[in-house]
Amino acid sequence: MIIKNAKLITWEEENRILDDSSLLVKDGLIGDIGGDLETKHPEEEVFDARGQYVMPGNICAHTHFYGAYARGMGIPGDAPKDFPEILEKLWWPLDMALDEEGVRYSALVFAVDAIKNGTTTLFDHHASPSFIDGSLDVIGDVIEDAGLRGVLCYEVTDRNGGEGAKAGIKENVRMIKKAAGNDRLGAAFGLHASLTVDDGTLDACRGSIGEEAGFHIHVAEHQADEYDSLKRSGLRVVDRLKKHGILGPKSIVAHGVHMDQQEAVLLAESGTWLTHQPRSNMNNAVGVAAIEDFLRLGIKVGIGTDGFYHAMWEEWKTAYFLHKVHHRDPRRMNAMDIIQMGIRNNAALAKVYLPEATLGEITKGAAADLIFVDYHPYTPLSAGNLPWQMIFGFQEGMITSTMVAGKFLMKEKELLTLDEEKIASESRALAPAIWERYESFVGKYS
Ligand SMILES: [Zn+2]
Repeated sequence: MIIKNAKLITWEEENRILDDSSLLVKDGLIGDIGGDLETKHPEEEVFDARGQYVMPGNICAHTHFYGAYARGMGIPGDAPKDFPEILEKLWWPLDMALDEEGVRYSALVFAVDAIKNGTTTLFDHHASPSFIDGSLDVIGDVIEDAGLRGVLCYEVTDRNGGEGAKAGIKENVRMIKKAAGNDRLGAAFGLHASLTVDDGTLDACRGSIGEEAGFHIHVAEHQADEYDSLKRSGLRVVDRLKKHGILGPKSIVAHGVHMDQQEAVLLAESGTWLTHQPRSNMNNAVGVAAIEDFLRLGIKVGIGTDGFYHAMWEEWKTAYFLHKVHHRDPRRMNAMDIIQMGIRNNAALAKVYLPEATLGEITKGAAADLIFVDYHPYTPLSAGNLPWQMIFGFQEGMITSTMVAGKFLMKEKELLTLDEEKIASESRALAPAIWERYESFVGKYS
């Protein structure tokens, strides 16, 4: 297929904006880039981009599909007063309430959401303690049917007993083996957080998988994680994870809000990835991670949604504003740092888990994962001011088409792989039973 009449935002190392350009999409890849490709490839069908901006699809470095049913759900009793209470009263009873259908529809509704918001690759961190064995297959099937790319894991935890932890380990090992060589589905080894895994479980996780695997775990999201780790081991969270072999160039830690400087150094030295989720951090009132310091230290920082709707530009904007108000200094969190996280680092992280696909750039041979943006700048837009045009001008509602591996998942606002109305209606029918089970588990952890 030839995509003609496009303004290409390439996000190559030296970003370029190519007006009035065409792309050849062949075998899921970008085969050629140029002015007039129609004459060169007369046999190809042509899609007219109508002068829209065409750029790589967005990547979400950390999310939880399982949180979908929290939308609109009431929490019984007093409102949670801090993050540990949010876990006990909201997330743990909710993930416990998910059965196979609940897992499937959580993934389906967020797949619809991702496609509409132009997010084409997602790192999901899953929990469903009532349905562990096979849960990642259910999510993997949704990802494959939707046409997206995903990197899955199951969060191992001791909070539901030894059997639950063992089943979680098995699910990770199984999926890591199953996903090997798949360019649309990858897998990490999931761990919930230091505060819900004892030393034996950490060692069992490490021992169950080869050195080539990476871990995906929440770290120091709230100070409770640090105090718990100190009490358990005399070590801070990152030191404890290092001792148990969890860090490394494939491993991902989410948040890092309450790490100290030495923990940040350990992440940098070990090449461990860190993901920033500012909307979630604000909603949980856990604090603000020292993201600029982390970048300066050389930590590879990516950005994710943590189960919020998968609008990555909105997450970027939240990061851009949050760090300014937090420091009461409008010079903080430069838009170039946002691009470093949202474009460069997220794409490099995706390369670690989906090595066969080159994502996050429009170059010959890169994956044809593209979004079409109907944006009409009323001031000059250049490669130099693009980050600010994106933060102050781009909105996900301007995305008209989403393509992954050369296949349209949404074309001119029409979803082609998933039926949103049907999925939403079936999901609404399922929700009352999930909410009822959720209510029956509230109080189990407090
Ligand atoms: Zn998370």
